[in-house]
Amino acid sequence: MNEKQAKLSFVIPCYRSEDTIEAVIEEIRSTVSQRDGYTYEIICVNDSSPDRVLDVLLRLAAEDTRIKVIDLAKNMGKHAAILAGYAFVTGDYVVNLDDDCQSPVCELWKLLDPVQSGAYDAATAKYRKKKQAFWKNFGSWINMKVGTVMLNKPKNMYFENFSLLKRFVVDEILRYKNPYPYLEGLVLRATGRILPVEMEERDRGDGKATGYTFRKSLALFFNGFTAFSVKPLRVSTVIGIAAAVGGFIWALVAVIRKLIHPESVRILGYTSIIVVLLILGGLILLSLGLIGEYIGRIYISLNNSPQYVIRQTVNTDPEEGKND
Ligand code: UDP
Ligand code: MG
Repeated sequence: MNEKQAKLSFVIPCYRSEDTIEAVIEEIRSTVSQRDGYTYEIICVNDSSPDRVLDVLLRLAAEDTRIKVIDLAKNMGKHAAILAGYAFVTGDYVVNLDDDCQSPVCELWKLLDPVQSGAYDAATAKYRKKKQAFWKNFGSWINMKVGTVMLNKPKNMYFENFSLLKRFVVDEILRYKNPYPYLEGLVLRATGRILPVEMEERDRGDGKATGYTFRKSLALFFNGFTAFSVKPLRVSTVIGIAAAVGGFIWALVAVIRKLIHPESVRILGYTSIIVVLLILGGLILLSLGLIGEYIGRIYISLNNSPQYVIRQTVNTDPEEGKND
């Protein structure tokens, strides 16, 4: 294998994409064929899609053994589906992309060249303008902030629906066995040498609405900050300390004023008491809920809840992968 030769593994989580997946695969084929010396495999993970995308995948896989199909028994979400695909990767570089033509596959080399040159372990698309619903833009912004604060993510680093990882990063990610996978956190846990590459995101190929419902986005958000960080717990500790110090000072003031002006009841009036009660009560419940969230996740992890369950696979014979 000379320096410029390598095997690329494309991993595509598939959900409601019976109308677009063929075009995505076709674009991969034509992009890779632009240069000599690259072999590839396309690992399509059917995340228990309600449409007939599995039929399309099985048909394509019957025509071309480079297309591998992993059929999940339950809908586990994008990140779990990607991890299911990673388990079957045989290439040197792993490309993550979406199934709905939104990832600009034609820009593949912009991600691959800097990584293949050895300067970076990963590269990710950084989109100039986001084409998605307002609340998703807002959600992405929050997710980015959470990533920067909770995961110590470098500023200006976006993980989009198009990225490329060196194989060792994927192998490292595969060591994570807990439920609630969060890809961004897993990549950042493995390497810091990640290159953002500016490019343009495309619209969905079929004009459908996003498969990422508000509920799924929220679940992902919780995965993001609880899976790799205990900073939220520290924040509640700091708020607790601040409230305690403030309360102590206020108590001192109240007692001293009472001693100086025994006739005054104003300083311990109803309003101040109820305000303090409500604020503190709210904070206590909030931090209890937070602790509960962590404990619940520990409990479910201890239960060995699976990240995903595979119903069947096609073309995944490891010997076949080596022949490519
Ligand atoms: N996806 C998935 N499982 C789901 C929802 C989405 O695997 O339950 C995948 C989907 O196949 C696609 C990616 O996540 O490859 C992004 O989904 P979508 O295009 O619906 O969301 P958006 O582009 O708006 O983020
Ligand atoms: Mg999409």
